[in-house]
Amino acid sequence: MMQQIKITKTENSGLGNIDFSNIPLGTTFTDHMFVCDYKEGTWVNPRIEPLATIPTHPAAMALHYGQAIFEGMKATVGKNKTPLLFRPEQNAKRFNHSARRMGMPEVPEALFVEAVKQIVALEHNWIPPQLGSALYLRPFMYADEPFIGMRAATSYKFIVICSPAGPFFSKKIKLYAETEYIRAANGGTGEAKAAGNYAAAILPTEKAKAKGYDQVLWLDAKEHRYIQEVGTMNIFFKIDGNFITPSTDGSILKGITRDSVITLLKDKGFTVTERPITIDEIIQFSKDGRLEEAFGTGTAVAIAMIESIGYKDEEIILPANNPVSEDVKQTLDQIKTQEQDDKFGWIIPVE
Ligand code: PMP
Repeated sequence: MMQQIKITKTENSGLGNIDFSNIPLGTTFTDHMFVCDYKEGTWVNPRIEPLATIPTHPAAMALHYGQAIFEGMKATVGKNKTPLLFRPEQNAKRFNHSARRMGMPEVPEALFVEAVKQIVALEHNWIPPQLGSALYLRPFMYADEPFIGMRAATSYKFIVICSPAGPFFSKKIKLYAETEYIRAANGGTGEAKAAGNYAAAILPTEKAKAKGYDQVLWLDAKEHRYIQEVGTMNIFFKIDGNFITPSTDGSILKGITRDSVITLLKDKGFTVTERPITIDEIIQFSKDGRLEEAFGTGTAVAIAMIESIGYKDEEIILPANNPVSEDVKQTLDQIKTQEQDDKFGWIIPVE
């Protein structure tokens, strides 16, 4: 049996001070957080309490050796204002995949999903009402054992915080195909949602932005030819009427939006081929007029259309219209707000 989650409510809600039509991204947090401790080989004391800073020992192992992982997911509102989650069990599974790779303990899937459900139930008034908005949920785990030395920690915290987001109007993005820095190598941690992966991506992303691009298009570590992902999204190309996306090879994060978009595209009658894709191929497809659409997929914006890709001295310019990408984006958005039938069983209402 799962332990009961103890709830302590705040006496000072910040909800009254929020202007839902103008929420700065990632800086506003809801009243409460879910916290659970891992001690002596087991998860104990699951609780929801007022959001507060957490005293941290300066030798906490996450600060030194980087045992830290996270997830990103969204709660929306559907018919009758019911809060909805999108495939939360997939986030739980990926969280545990990340935990295993980083030598961290797994969180029972039922505890992960229950934690998310209960915090969303408590904070449902924080889900912004406008179409395209959502309550962003950030489950994460880090090693909080004070210890200097290289080994797996023995104590951890699993926390879920929430941040209202949007409405998020995604603009077309310009990509910079990176040939110097890499995001992930086979055998590394690219398939884990590990904090360190993001730390390593910051400098190359800043450099790409300074050159006038929005995101880095990550290429493989060995040959700098194979396309991996874009920024914090997976990538799809429409060639000759059908779709290709890089096959996950151990160094690509297996996006839940990626998986959902593959299902939706197939359902709409397209072929989707998962295979290794080189940047040279994409350049050739573009030159031959066969590259029709390209987009990134991820929880933050769902689908982001790609405007151009800079690679060495070349600039690949995508066609201006993205009819299929727009259609898939709309389908996904409408499933998430129950305006379309949830025929794949992706939506979990929070009662
Ligand atoms: N790749 C990376 C590196 C990411 O951080 C994310 C965001 N989680 C994705 C891809 C997209 O994954 P998802 O569709 O599950 O959000």
